[in-house]
Amino acid sequence: MTEPLIYELSSPGREGVKPPQLDVPESALPQGWLREDLPLPEVSEIDVVRHYLRLSQLNYAIDKGMYPLGSCTMKFNPKINEVTARLPGFTGIHPLQHPDDVQGALYVIYTLQEYIKAIGGFAGVTLQPAAGAHGELTGVLIMRKYHLERGETQRDTILVPDSAHGTNPASTSMSGLRVVEIPSDARGNVDLDALRSQVCERVAGLMFTNPNTLGLFEEHMEDVIDIVHGCGGLVYGDGANMNALTGIMRPGDAGIDVMHFNLHKTFSTPHGGGGPGCGAVGVAAHLVDYLPGPIVVLDPNLEEEDDPYFIFHEPPKSIGRVKAFWGHFGIMVRAYTYIRMLGSEGLRRSAEHAVLNANYLLSRIKGVYPLPYDRICKHEFVVEGRFKDAPGVHALDIAKRLIDYGVHPPTNYFPLIVPEALMIEPTETESRQSLDNYADILLKIAQEAHETPDLLHAAPQNAPVRRLDEVRAARNPVLRYEH
Ligand SMILES: *Cc1c(COP(=O)(O)O)cnc(C)c1O
Repeated sequence: MTEPLIYELSSPGREGVKPPQLDVPESALPQGWLREDLPLPEVSEIDVVRHYLRLSQLNYAIDKGMYPLGSCTMKFNPKINEVTARLPGFTGIHPLQHPDDVQGALYVIYTLQEYIKAIGGFAGVTLQPAAGAHGELTGVLIMRKYHLERGETQRDTILVPDSAHGTNPASTSMSGLRVVEIPSDARGNVDLDALRSQVCERVAGLMFTNPNTLGLFEEHMEDVIDIVHGCGGLVYGDGANMNALTGIMRPGDAGIDVMHFNLHKTFSTPHGGGGPGCGAVGVAAHLVDYLPGPIVVLDPNLEEEDDPYFIFHEPPKSIGRVKAFWGHFGIMVRAYTYIRMLGSEGLRRSAEHAVLNANYLLSRIKGVYPLPYDRICKHEFVVEGRFKDAPGVHALDIAKRLIDYGVHPPTNYFPLIVPEALMIEPTETESRQSLDNYADILLKIAQEAHETPDLLHAAPQNAPVRRLDEVRAARNPVLRYEH
């Protein structure tokens, strides 16, 4: 980067802000609060504006272009979400305010809980967890407590298919339970024989992702659920992939006992805009008493003619609190807005278009990029980023070359069961033109892989940074600005 940073632009006496007239007596700053060796830059308004705008342009964002990061559902975040999340009535309240004063906010939480229940087919929902992985931990702790309460203390094992997101085994281990991996079969489904051979009285449950991380709908969903329930285990649903199902099928109806939703994927705000998320957890009726508390409920003592009044409720066998205060309220407002703007028809259409877009993009590159499981996909698909007749080229080279063309690479090297995996999730918010543009670029790169592979190995050429030494960056991070 050649342009100077704000720290280097500092010029004595330059200023960008005129503070208002003092309305309190002037007093000196306490000694030692300002560090002599850390001078604040003295800059004008335009210096500051250019500095931050430039920083924002060094980054890639969904508002800039397609971001088909498989499994992450990087859909466009409608700007109306930001308008509602910034309403002063929401931003100006304090989490310790009395429920009397914040009925509007409690209405949003309550109504969103009801929407998530209806969308997933569940009897109860918590909005406390801060992310999908946090929702998984919450869900596994609920399953564990359910078994313990029933005296089934020997249930210490969670079965996890080998296509699962890495957070599944991680959440299991964090809950103190043991992971047993279940392989996939040749069509990318859970291998039923392998599953049957592992079910026993030690099984607390199975973590099940459907559509799975290959983007494929599990063809034996009912069998999988029956086999696990048959041994007394529970079925956890990883609902991060709900973008393929919303308004079409309800996991709770299929027998899923507990499931997390990624509100910050399926219901816009991808990855919480780089900030907080909401890993809402839905549970079937037999697990409602175990939900983390408090949850927002309608006051049961209301008379029929009363206005609705919302209170906090502690489920009787609750696993306890999993998050300070009431969770990430701003993300809840955005998800609520998103659901209200689309309505139930719109939610269904968004899922249909997500699936259509993925299949369209797949159809355009299939045959050029090897497809290990050749099936109709759901909202995403996985191809191999390698070519038989261009052995030096890897998925990483393709991903880096995409950056040179001004688009974001897909998820790569995940799921682990596909060699050189490129996992592509275009989402429903991309147009036919932008899908064609992405397909054209992928096809061009495939051609380059054969004709001019050095272009791929040297990529990215026109990004702010080139290939980073990720190991060194993790081991010796340089976290402060240095000349
Ligand atoms: C994103 C994702 C998770 C984890 O969600 P976070 O909010 O990133 O913690 C879990 N499972 C799957 C399949 C995912 O795609």
